[in-house]
Amino acid sequence: GKNGYQLFSHDMHKTLMDRLQLEAELREAITLGDQLKLHYQPQVSSTNDNVVGYEALLRWNHPTKGMLSPFDFMAMAESSGLIIQIGEWALIEACKKAKKIHVADSNFTRMAVNLSALQFNHANIVDHVKNALLLTSLPAHLLELEITESAIISNVEDAIALLFKLKELGVQLAIDDFGTGYSSLNYLKNFPIDTLKIDKSFIDGIVHNQKDAAIARTIVQLALNLGLGTIAEGVEHVEQYELLKEMGCNDLQGYLYGKPVSLERF
Ligand code: C2E
Ligand code: CA
Ligand code: CA
Ligand code: CA
Repeated sequence: GKNGYQLFSHDMHKTLMDRLQLEAELREAITLGDQLKLHYQPQVSSTNDNVVGYEALLRWNHPTKGMLSPFDFMAMAESSGLIIQIGEWALIEACKKAKKIHVADSNFTRMAVNLSALQFNHANIVDHVKNALLLTSLPAHLLELEITESAIISNVEDAIALLFKLKELGVQLAIDDFGTGYSSLNYLKNFPIDTLKIDKSFIDGIVHNQKDAAIARTIVQLALNLGLGTIAEGVEHVEQYELLKEMGCNDLQGYLYGKPVSLERF
């Protein structure tokens, strides 16, 4: 049409059909309820090596494809809008588990749950969070919501209002993948944020790359000066732990301490 043409190959057709099928299967998984799981990855204090929290990470135990990671279905869950329902479920499920851990473990300070940009910007997220806390009677300060810079930056005015509403519930707020989005120092001043989560891409190079080390050190200092906490993600080696501890990074998360697993297994 319009004096143009587009190539439509069998490969593209197959990709589209695969995606539509996966979407239908995810819809069914949500209805059935037992294929979606949360795995939990420990977060460890750099000062005393205690496990102080967990990040809840989504898994899909697909009937034929096996255990899928968010990498395999998150883009589709976002574009189809299914992430809203999944996210609502994940909040309740993570709060349930957090309540159990809280009763058993006095070192426990947080259950971190990821919020996607779509959830943050379009769903009734304040009600979802309020509801999860009410249903599980989890003390609000034990729930930390991880939000990426890109989710916030798409509509700054609304985001500020929303962050303050979430903060009013008493939950903690973390900026996820800090340093990789459209970081603006201005929002650190104006937003009610508790924690900066230093992105794995900086942690990867921290031991051998002076620039990565300088960025990580500067983020920790910035957070300290603003009264914010810091957590490093993707810590895999002892040398990274030693350097981050020396820098004053509060908490550490990564394969060095444990991969995400079911809580039963943990
Ligand atoms: P993220 O929030 O940045 O989560 C960290 C990812 O890094 C996780 O991948 C985790 O398993 C992985 N990871 C942790 N430590 C290490 C390490 O030492 N080395 C390496 N190589 N990787 C490490 P995962 O579980 O596949 O999750 C991928 C992304 O999917 C997450 O990135 C997050 O953006 C998204 N996601 C996961 N669960 C949820 C959820 O419940 N809701 C939403 N909206 N997004 C989720
Ligand atoms: Ca995260
Ligand atoms: Ca992250
Ligand atoms: Ca990351």
